[in-house]
Amino acid sequence: MRGAVLYAPGDVRFEKRDDPTIIKPTDAIIRMSATCVCGSDLWPYRGFNSGGEPTPMGHEYCGIVEEVGRAVSSVKRGQFVIGSFFASDNTCPNCQAGYQSGCQHAEFVGGAQAPVLRVPLADGTLVATAEIPPDDLIPNLLALSDVMGAGWFAAEAANVKPGKTVAVVGDGAVGLLGVLSVRQMGAGRIIAMSRHESRQKLAREFGATDIVTERGDEGVARIRELTDGIGADSVLECVGTQESMMQAIRSTRKGGYVGYVGVPHGVELKGEDLFYAHLHLHGGPAPVRRFLPELIDLVWKGKINPGKVFDLTLPLDHVAEGYRAMDERRAIKTLLRP
Ligand SMILES: [Zn+2]
Repeated sequence: MRGAVLYAPGDVRFEKRDDPTIIKPTDAIIRMSATCVCGSDLWPYRGFNSGGEPTPMGHEYCGIVEEVGRAVSSVKRGQFVIGSFFASDNTCPNCQAGYQSGCQHAEFVGGAQAPVLRVPLADGTLVATAEIPPDDLIPNLLALSDVMGAGWFAAEAANVKPGKTVAVVGDGAVGLLGVLSVRQMGAGRIIAMSRHESRQKLAREFGATDIVTERGDEGVARIRELTDGIGADSVLECVGTQESMMQAIRSTRKGGYVGYVGVPHGVELKGEDLFYAHLHLHGGPAPVRRFLPELIDLVWKGKINPGKVFDLTLPLDHVAEGYRAMDERRAIKTLLRP
């Protein structure tokens, strides 16, 4: 088969790779219905934390089970499944606590920008839908594999409650789906921080009531202005830079909550800043697996449409253009069809 491989910053190639096979009895092999490019794929694409070795790319996936190892009992050949970027056993104490992305046996699932994928710990990782979904649901279901789960976790971690005021820092796909999650959870006022018109439009469509275009001190001042000088009850941090993290912390009211899901790059927090901020911090790699059954149900019933973040669809072999479009911010998120 052929799949996406990152050779060097800016250099993604679609080239021959070994066909995935069952290695452990707990593995499954799935044939991809759709995959996509993640905002976090852009970090190595832009030359941050890349290992130097050619790396198979992609960690968002959904598709049809082709083969399962002999120890797999809960998913079967022919089922449509979705899984998270972290394989998890779903039985260890961390999984039982709802932190499957911190599973004691977690394995990163990489190389998903390909027509076929090996998924470890299939029983714990994959969730099958009741039926094979119609084609128009595929983008919505694919989004649950990572971005929607990340936005949802940010909202949960930020303790979003009905009627509360919530600010969302970041207008990438995760931030936008954070807005959608917050709306679904019943927040009253939803302030999206965005400077891009097309993203502001989608944020409004997903439920944002206010848009703040300012950043830094001005952004904080603007949020205080909108909240009678006290700050938001909950803030979702969906970027991962020093500026965005401090934006989130400083926009939160005393006793409020910050849910952070942006993968940190160079973020350092000062003890004193945290000490006097009087807030709750909770975040990390989203335990997507925890939310899959509920989110699949919401998509199936037409209550949420997270697939709207895909504003570019390309054949899988055009994956390099999918990266370029996102890198140049011409696209929010690229869906790839094998
Ligand atoms: Zn576990």
